[in-house]
Amino acid sequence: MKNNENELNRKVRNSFEEKFSQKPLLVHAPGRINLIGDHTDYNNGYVLPAAIDRGITMALAKNGTDTCRLFSLDLKDMQEVSLNTGFIRSDKGWANYIIGVLDGLNSRGTRLEGFDAVFSGNIPIGSGLSSSAALECAAVMGISELLGESLDKEEMIHIAQEAEHKFAGVNCGIMDQFSSVMGKEGHAIRLDCESLQHEYLPLDIKNAGLVLFDTKVSHSLGDSAYNQRRMECETGVSVLRQFFPEVRSLRDADAEMLETVEMPETVFRRCLYVIEENERVVKAGTYLKSGLGKELGKLMFESHDGLSGLYEVSCPELDHLVTEAKKLPQFFGSRMMGGGFGGCTINLISDEGREEGIEKIRSSFGQRFGRELGVYHVQAVEGAHVVT
Ligand code: ADP
Ligand code: MG
Repeated sequence: MKNNENELNRKVRNSFEEKFSQKPLLVHAPGRINLIGDHTDYNNGYVLPAAIDRGITMALAKNGTDTCRLFSLDLKDMQEVSLNTGFIRSDKGWANYIIGVLDGLNSRGTRLEGFDAVFSGNIPIGSGLSSSAALECAAVMGISELLGESLDKEEMIHIAQEAEHKFAGVNCGIMDQFSSVMGKEGHAIRLDCESLQHEYLPLDIKNAGLVLFDTKVSHSLGDSAYNQRRMECETGVSVLRQFFPEVRSLRDADAEMLETVEMPETVFRRCLYVIEENERVVKAGTYLKSGLGKELGKLMFESHDGLSGLYEVSCPELDHLVTEAKKLPQFFGSRMMGGGFGGCTINLISDEGREEGIEKIRSSFGQRFGRELGVYHVQAVEGAHVVT
């Protein structure tokens, strides 16, 4: 698994040296999976993610000017950013994640200097594996390290998240950036998104493992729906608070409270999903600790039902994958992962009959949608780091 990263690092380093004739600093930040707990992070709830062996590598060196020259190796696209004119959104989507980080560093008082950067990644883009967070985290770690600015990890996470809010227009929670920075090899992270308290749980389930199925439906059209869900949850909280002042976010609410107040039906369903999902994540953590794969898998199926039925962020391709997995004995669990409207499912599959199970899903997906299913095997890895 380290090989993936090494190869990417080599490619980015070579390209930087060719382009800018300097020895760069190299950083790598991973994407992430999430076993269970989606749309809970911005509701101050619980999640169970892990950083994965696919990520973004960025090479950087100072250039002695007041300009940053940013080069996307995958898109063969260059963006120059002047440090003298204030930071504004670019019409190049990819550049905004880095400009957002520059803006964040600037506002917290970092003395910025011009630099050159080249980056590339091996995370499928828009698949819900959080290539955007990996890009932000590589940028914040790379730039701060280059400038000798000692940021703690929590600051990096917040700057990266803010870049996504302000420059990509997605009001995401903290899970993606937290996972990319804090990942640990072989472990999932049980994270409380309110306190940021977290615990590393070994990601080894007896006789079973994970596999991702990619619908290759890009979720990006779901950005506005994502922000809308967030607003619906906020509406739910403001109604609940009138009767239960102790409810600051949905993590403080339970289903009984929800039943006693009146709110629009849609808002009710959104809140119910979040409340139930939080309970599932807590249980899932204990099952993972005890290596109870089947029990964990059952919660994953339930999570999908909630995301599809109550929260309404699934799509026909994701629903199909989960429905088919449910029919096969190899699949302990399956659910859509990430914001929704496309991207991947995450599946807990038994070692016995694994390949056969995957083939069955692959062929049924192909038949139904006339497209090839993406199948990814991922490992849990350490979070963002300087490459030495
Ligand atoms: P996800 O985070 O689920 O992969 P997003 O839509 O949130 O999807 O982020 C994807 C965006 O991040 C891309 O459209 C692009 O702007 C940027 N990005 C991610 N990886 C790369 C890359 N390797 N090269 C250039 N831009 C990238
Ligand atoms: Mg993203």
